[in-house]
Amino acid sequence: LVSLRDIVKTYHRGQQTVPVLGGITFDIDAGEFLALMGPSGSGKSTLLNLIAGIDRPDSGQLVIGGVDIGVLDEAELADWRAQNVGFIFQFYNLMPVLSALENVELPLLLKDMTRRERRERALLALEMVGLADRAEHAPSELSGGQQQRVAIARALITDPTLIVADEPTGDLDRESANDILHLMQRLNDEIGKTIVMVTHDSRAAGHAHAIMHLEKGELSGREEVRV
Ligand code: ATP
Ligand code: MG
Repeated sequence: LVSLRDIVKTYHRGQQTVPVLGGITFDIDAGEFLALMGPSGSGKSTLLNLIAGIDRPDSGQLVIGGVDIGVLDEAELADWRAQNVGFIFQFYNLMPVLSALENVELPLLLKDMTRRERRERALLALEMVGLADRAEHAPSELSGGQQQRVAIARALITDPTLIVADEPTGDLDRESANDILHLMQRLNDEIGKTIVMVTHDSRAAGHAHAIMHLEKGELSGREEVRV
């Protein structure tokens, strides 16, 4: 589903250049749940952002679902992202003035859909994450774990090809983290979502099929954890 070939990324800060990824090559199969681990600063978020089409590599080829995303212009890339990628962040990134339901509906605003259809789909997604009864709550009226579940419903609402999660349990206590990981595992098992998750927590990574280890911008190994 995802093919990365010799992906190189360097950040430029004034005169200074910071090499971050030094030629990354690997594949992600459709239906795979992959964890990405490595020390702070090893380039995990950078790599995740490239896979999600949030950022572009300096060189190398990135093909996702048959689309070489390197050939897309900015508008095409934004469009591709909106259709194909669901995002889950450490700090949820919900809109504080919108209800849970409205947050989940947001990605559908770009689609040609009636208000009623949007609400119905968003309610289904909230049901899937076990929060149908909190649809009218504001994010501030939800626990961290519940906010992350709203974010997961939002990530799913467009039925994306790929879900990317950057430290999705990084700000949660152990029990809420477990709920989120089980939910992600269900999305993978039951609806076949392909997931790439960055994490510092090896227990969290144990929910994935495999762990890719990143070390100073180079892959240092792949470990199979569950089949
Ligand atoms: P962490 O576990 O702390 O989140 P990470 O593995 O996700 O770390 P990245 O965020 O990918 O690491 O950063 C990799 C390197 O790139 C770091 O040295 C960081 O300082 C640098 N870097 C990241 N973003 C930028 C940027 N926008 N401009 C310049 N340098 C950056
Ligand atoms: Mg990071």
